[in-house]
Amino acid sequence: MRARISPRPALRADSLSSYRSNAPSRCTVERVVSVRRRRRAKMTPRAGQTVDGYPEEMTHAARAVQLAGSLCRKVQFALQRGEQVSKSDDSPVTVADFAAQAVISYALARECPSVGLVAEEDAGEMRTADGAGLRARVTAMVNDALSGVVDSPLTEEEVMDAIDRGATVGGKTGSFWILDPIDGTKGFINGRQYAIALALMEEGEVTGGVLGCPNMPSDKIPRGATEIPTASPGCMFVAYKGCGTTVSALDAEEPLKEGVKITTAKVTDSREATYMESWGDSIVADHGFTSSLSANMGMTSPPVRIDSMAKYGALARGDTNMYLRFPPATYREKVWDHAAGAIVVQEAGGVITDGVGKPLNFSNGRFLDIEIGIIATSTPELHATLMETISKVRAT
Ligand code: AMP
Ligand code: MG
Repeated sequence: MRARISPRPALRADSLSSYRSNAPSRCTVERVVSVRRRRRAKMTPRAGQTVDGYPEEMTHAARAVQLAGSLCRKVQFALQRGEQVSKSDDSPVTVADFAAQAVISYALARECPSVGLVAEEDAGEMRTADGAGLRARVTAMVNDALSGVVDSPLTEEEVMDAIDRGATVGGKTGSFWILDPIDGTKGFINGRQYAIALALMEEGEVTGGVLGCPNMPSDKIPRGATEIPTASPGCMFVAYKGCGTTVSALDAEEPLKEGVKITTAKVTDSREATYMESWGDSIVADHGFTSSLSANMGMTSPPVRIDSMAKYGALARGDTNMYLRFPPATYREKVWDHAAGAIVVQEAGGVITDGVGKPLNFSNGRFLDIEIGIIATSTPELHATLMETISKVRAT
């Protein structure tokens, strides 16, 4: 059953400029579709140009991700001062996960009430008597993040409802967001990369994506690097179907207007290609297999290991040429771990499929059924070479 956010009075317009007061949202699907057609027709941005034509939902998505990004940054700061870090109890990481989902869900429900939500976390346990402590901490963190944005603090019930708005299955029809409030928990805990990942699904297709990467350097990853440093204020990648992908500072005043168009890095010789993968402690990393693929393609650069969907942003920006991910056969991928990244890469000119070359289908509920793995490349040609290599290496 899907909980609903109860109607509330207006958000304060002074703190979050695009939040409207008391006015009913104009962000209906019908209106957005017609506005989008007009915008697509007049937009042909080139690399290096800023893009100012994304549909209205993307502005709201970017602002919601910024709010969650600030919240996460505060928590990471506390973690660096040595607070408790496990994800299994009411540690700061767990609190941040729930709170980030609540903040994004609440902000988006306010602005785009007809757009549903599929999100990773649910508030089931927090609603029990045993969850009282966690519930209070999450609510306090949400209200801290929304202070200056809402007129009065949200109640615990409103915060729980905002989280549970994401407990839906998604599917092939209608419009809904797909959210991973903190992707790459290990990176978050260990002060490395993590991402706030928000995708927009419309009629069975991922059409929009925002990746907030609070620790992502603005400089490209240099060739030969095997990992990347953390940097402030981080980056925000935004993509919308037919409009391209942009990157801006995560704390940009107007990320969609300030964002600069990015494209993937072309390589004519696959031996020159570079690739990214998860860290070694990730269940989805098969470094033995990726290293065989790399050797078979004659690649000489070492892999760059990065946590989270920040890898998709780096691929879109042209930092490296491939993202390789081969989880064990028993592992089921979830839609929120890839939806935003997929559109960010595709709109930058890249290709993403599963390990047998099938397009990723995000319209079958909360799981993403794939064969062999997920591969993303900077060009179709490199994708073809990689596919041949996967077949060859698997046959040996
Ligand atoms: P990555 O940072 O590339 O390792 O990918 C992060 C995502 O992969 C997480 O959000 C999880 O959904 C999934 N994942 C990675 N490692 C594990 C693990 N040990 N157990 C369960 N899921 C994992
Ligand atoms: Mg995740």
